Amino acid sequence: MKFPLSDIGSLSTPMLIKALDSDKEMGLSGKEVLLRQQQFGKNIIQKQNRTPWWKLLLEQFLNPLMFVLGLAVVVTFLFQDYLESAAILAVIFLNAGIGFYMEWQANVSMNALSALSEQQARVLREGYKQIINSSDITIGDVLLLEAGDIVGADGRVMEEINLAVNEAALTGESISVSKDFKNKNIVYKGTIVSRGKGKVLVTGIGGQTEIGKVAHLTQSAEKDSTPLEKKLIQLSKKLLWITLGITLLIILAGLWQGKEWYPLLTLAIALAIAAIPEGLPVVATIALARGMLRLAKNNVIVKRLSAVETLGETQVIFTDKTGTLTLNQMSVEKIVTDSGVYTDEFSEGDATLQKWIAAAALCNDSDGTEGDPLEVALIHFIKKQNFKHKKIIDSNKRIGEIPFDSATKMMGTLHLNEKKYIAYFKGATEVLLKKSNYILNKNNKKEVFTNKKDWEEKANQLAGEGYRVLAFAFREMEQPQTDFFKDVVFIGLVGLIDPPRTEVRESMEQCHRAGIEVIMATGDHPVTAQAIAQKIRMSQSGKEKTITGFELGDKTEKEILETNIFARVNPAQKLQLVSLYQQKNYTVAMTGDGINDSPALRKADIGIAMGMKGTEAARESADLVLKDDSFASIVLAIRQGRGILNNIKYFVVYLLSCNLSEIIIVSFAALTGLIPPLLPLQILFINMLTDVLPALALGMSREPESVMERPPRASGEPIVTRRNWIEIFGYAFGMTVSVLAIGFFAKYNLHYTDAKINHLIFLTLILAQLWHVFNLPEWGSSYLKNEITKNKYVWMALVACLIIAWSIYFIPVFQTILHLER
Ligand code: ATP
Repeated sequence: MKFPLSDIGSLSTPMLIKALDSDKEMGLSGKEVLLRQQQFGKNIIQKQNRTPWWKLLLEQFLNPLMFVLGLAVVVTFLFQDYLESAAILAVIFLNAGIGFYMEWQANVSMNALSALSEQQARVLREGYKQIINSSDITIGDVLLLEAGDIVGADGRVMEEINLAVNEAALTGESISVSKDFKNKNIVYKGTIVSRGKGKVLVTGIGGQTEIGKVAHLTQSAEKDSTPLEKKLIQLSKKLLWITLGITLLIILAGLWQGKEWYPLLTLAIALAIAAIPEGLPVVATIALARGMLRLAKNNVIVKRLSAVETLGETQVIFTDKTGTLTLNQMSVEKIVTDSGVYTDEFSEGDATLQKWIAAAALCNDSDGTEGDPLEVALIHFIKKQNFKHKKIIDSNKRIGEIPFDSATKMMGTLHLNEKKYIAYFKGATEVLLKKSNYILNKNNKKEVFTNKKDWEEKANQLAGEGYRVLAFAFREMEQPQTDFFKDVVFIGLVGLIDPPRTEVRESMEQCHRAGIEVIMATGDHPVTAQAIAQKIRMSQSGKEKTITGFELGDKTEKEILETNIFARVNPAQKLQLVSLYQQKNYTVAMTGDGINDSPALRKADIGIAMGMKGTEAARESADLVLKDDSFASIVLAIRQGRGILNNIKYFVVYLLSCNLSEIIIVSFAALTGLIPPLLPLQILFINMLTDVLPALALGMSREPESVMERPPRASGEPIVTRRNWIEIFGYAFGMTVSVLAIGFFAKYNLHYTDAKINHLIFLTLILAQLWHVFNLPEWGSSYLKNEITKNKYVWMALVACLIIAWSIYFIPVFQTILHLER
């Protein structure tokens, strides 16, 4: 095969298929696929904004701490304290190395995660439909498209039914473009199939696709910090200015007392080192990235780092029903036609039942093995009852269709049976009752439909028993008509069982305790929705308030905010609901699966798509993808999100209180002269020891049970609350007092030399800071058994730090560098 072809545009489709050596009905062979993948490479667009390693390394040198340290090197060098300069230089590189390693690790985790959320594509290979990773598509593949798919490669449409594609990703134009195989017959990678189906011959992959060619323009955007990281950076900056102020004051005081320049400069540097919480943003990033990995292990794929923190703040969850609260494993239980209710005796001779079977078999996109579980259930039922499924399919060729849409809540197909045209419909009861003028009576004759009210009642009754109810209808024609819905004949109803997920009840209870409101927004019948809500105890009181999509327009805001079930709502209404709650300052999570759910998923603070039943389009717009579709996973994710915020709070409080204690001790020594001051390198050492290992270990704690026992954090809440500041000052004060007390004791009772007192203060401060990790669990939790004492990393960090401190005490060269005297 010759490729690339210069004249793709001028070739007719059959010629193109030939030129690319492909086959419309069979697709490529496995061997050919491998050869082509080798020849043309993967179907991926190289990302250009991945930070190269050298840039990441360089960035480590560009922060306030590094500037201060650089200054320290210069000062010590000028005053000919070469050993000190060398030591500080070593610290600079060590620090950069640690920072680089940590960020690199965070990047590695995120890349691993983006691989998990890779797009899938349906292709025809060796005559079989296969689901593959989109990156494995190759030239000449036959791509099968359906509504909700993201087109995986550029290609030529060979067959289509009602195919339309939204090309906004490429053109910015949000109106869908109809595609047919005669004129507008090219589809592009990255665009979204908004309706219909198509069979496409792949002509371009990866960098040769249209979007690949413009990708370098759009991808150079800078990586954005998460709100949390921004808050932490702001906090660090604020602290830096405060320290600079204090430092200046102390230097002025020193000069006024007639002190020399060199000790004053060292003091200033010591203070600056003490005050800069350099670990904050990077430890936060690591905690978030680690959280993402843990969530991935629990079936939740997080696509945006900042989603982890928003999860912790979620106040309202809008959830759909089918598949999220229920198993989405359906089975047919009851069929109701004018002849009566069928529950277990199904006889082939019954004419109305025959019609129902034809409708269920034909107005159906599934073959019984894959597809919409509702449709699979219908086929299963037909096959299980030994009704002749294959014969029905073979004798009724499908020549047209109106695909299912959650806005219209129905689908239709048109068939040619010998010389007759028959359309079959299935969909929500209200919709089909409205469209039907006739009903198929028990004598298998159509008669004018006068008793619609009775049928509404029958549907309500089925729904009240917890069944998912679906209606069926048909229409016979001599010639295909343009007004599809004239003279439609109602056939009857089916009640399907879709059992609630067992784990959901426990998750609901967790939500109640955690102050999270759960609201069901479903396309299903209000009575079915209520029955399920009651089974899973969705509301604490057991009283469900329901509004349907038809009534929504007439309701006041207050009524809407008091409702916890919205039934028969369409995607546009879901968007309205999310917006209303957001206007009222709620942090909203919302689930969605269909292509039309994308706007609401984007609008919600946390958009959640389904990994199993969702469309690629929904997954693309979401922040979170649930691999198992289950509501319980959402609650688990919120729990972990809260846990991560909790951990971040731990180490913020820890780092700031440690740093503050250093500042107070150094300032006290400088201002009063009562005890010898800690030297810059000593402070640097203490910081390297306590800011890195224990702080990292704190970020890995499990969430305490109590995280789900309290209401959600307010979304605007600062990272360090007033209460946290009180804690920080309290702990810092406690550590300072103990260290100073020991210093004074050594001075006035033991009469140690200044050098020895300095050594004692140095060691005491290290031990005080290490011990301080045990202060962090919440007030009221057990001092011996809590998430810190249960965290093995904390113990490992403490042991490592103690060993390092111990080696300093015993290894002479370190003592010389750090000016410690025994
Ligand atoms: P949820 O929104 O909780 O997932 P749902 O699956 O009922 O519930 P939609 O998918 O929007 O929501 O479906 C709305 C209604 O359309 C259903 O209640 C059903 O009556 C009808 N329906 C669902 N699937 C099909 C289908 N494949 N063919 C025809 N009608 C369908």
